[in-house]
Amino acid sequence: MTPKSSWREECGVVGVVGHPRASQLAYLGLYALQHRGQEAAGIASFDRGQLHDHRQLGLVNDVFTREVLDGLIGDSAIGHNRYSTTGSTVLPNVQPLLAKLRGRIVALAHNGNLVNARMVREELEAGGSIFQTSMDSEIILHLMARSRHEEVPRALRDGLDRVHGAYSMLLLDGDELYAGKDPHGIRPLCIGRLADEGWIVASESCALDIVGARFEREVEPGELVRLRAGEEPEHLDSSADTAPARCVFESIYFSRPDSRIWGRSAGEARVDLGRRLAQEMPAPGGEVVISVPDSSNAAALGFSMESGIPYGFGLIRNHYVGRTFIDPSPDIRDFSARVKYNAVDEVVRGRSVVVVDDSIVRGTTVRKLVRMLRAAGAKEVHFRVSSAPIVSPCFYGIDTPTEEELVASSRSANEIGRLVGADTLGYLSIEGMLESVGGGDGSGFCSACFDRSYPIAILERPDKTVLESGPRS
Ligand code: 5GP
Ligand code: SF4
Ligand code: MG
Repeated sequence: MTPKSSWREECGVVGVVGHPRASQLAYLGLYALQHRGQEAAGIASFDRGQLHDHRQLGLVNDVFTREVLDGLIGDSAIGHNRYSTTGSTVLPNVQPLLAKLRGRIVALAHNGNLVNARMVREELEAGGSIFQTSMDSEIILHLMARSRHEEVPRALRDGLDRVHGAYSMLLLDGDELYAGKDPHGIRPLCIGRLADEGWIVASESCALDIVGARFEREVEPGELVRLRAGEEPEHLDSSADTAPARCVFESIYFSRPDSRIWGRSAGEARVDLGRRLAQEMPAPGGEVVISVPDSSNAAALGFSMESGIPYGFGLIRNHYVGRTFIDPSPDIRDFSARVKYNAVDEVVRGRSVVVVDDSIVRGTTVRKLVRMLRAAGAKEVHFRVSSAPIVSPCFYGIDTPTEEELVASSRSANEIGRLVGADTLGYLSIEGMLESVGGGDGSGFCSACFDRSYPIAILERPDKTVLESGPRS
């Protein structure tokens, strides 16, 4: 049975060809993409057909020492980092995945979630395939092995055509790098030009910047591209039925603000979200706008600029919070919130404070922050959210809880405001959110966790219930 952890794979991927220190560039790319996955990291490199690889649980910087990197020789490499999950994680599940194909080894790194993984896997197992891991990505390799096509790109296309869901995928075959996206292009993936002959492909453009590569373009929905040293990126084909459904949550929260996502800077998109929020949900009488650092800094700035209410640093975040800590005393109220955030009394005391956050998931953060700001002397607390209410889980690679755990799935904004003790609480509308992110009419995005209109039928749920119906609308 597939463990639950395989369903939660927000990840960062990076691939490099045509550079003498390919693994070092892949390492730096993964380092820049650390926010996309903190559980495990791996790199596979090729040196004249010879594979070298290293995969381990931990942060990129801990997984790769100088000695390890020195051993990952060759002109081409791919890397992957994986999101932390509550489920058990074992080393075989750490990517890149390796497989023997047509007598040689290929390496695969994948970001996203397949929604028909269990069905295809069962079919493959019934046909004799033996799986090494519990990851749905491995299915693609088995499908490739079974393809009647000898050539890697055609076998890969055969495999990709059989799976449904979200994938931004890299496959390294010696010094040839393939980059592919699902027909909806749900997860980001972009191509960058290195100084000499080389290419880099990565989940986000911040991984291009760190190695001095020039942003070339995004991989298009459904597209399969081949990258080789000294040649322009080669568009191989596109799947028959492309229909862009780019994840709006990448722009709102998940991607780094200095990344170019969906055609524009994620940070700028967040400023626009904040501006639109100030128009839709103004906070008259507000005396200071504060963010919940770092994820809502840009949105709070946009709110401040649009409303004319000054921006202040009312909450400070500790950047060194580990994943486990000891609660020293049950008497310290909201200890877990204090570990991460602290309110600056001078900024909030006696004032009507407008707090802008990018999203509310379970409602835990907002509840603790309202209490903390009141304790610091805020006269009023007006909470504003630069996304629409999250009402439904994501099945395409973002780790959201079940519908029952989503505080907005069964409550209005006013009810949540009362529940958390805010004077007022307001969200951005779905239209406002999509228009701000898209910079236009807002079409071509997935917003299923906000409006329940899933672009791809959820054939299997994480709890393994197979639904009979297609997407809800
Ligand atoms: P809540 O406390 O309501 O469950 O979560 C909301 C807070 O978590 C917000 O401050 C938001 O920036 C952040 N957040 C939203 N989505 C995610 C996510 O996927 N992972 C993590 N770690 N934080 C998130
Ligand atoms: Fe992104 Fe939400 Fe769609 Fe998931 S459901 S892909 S988080 S917009
Ligand atoms: Mg946040």
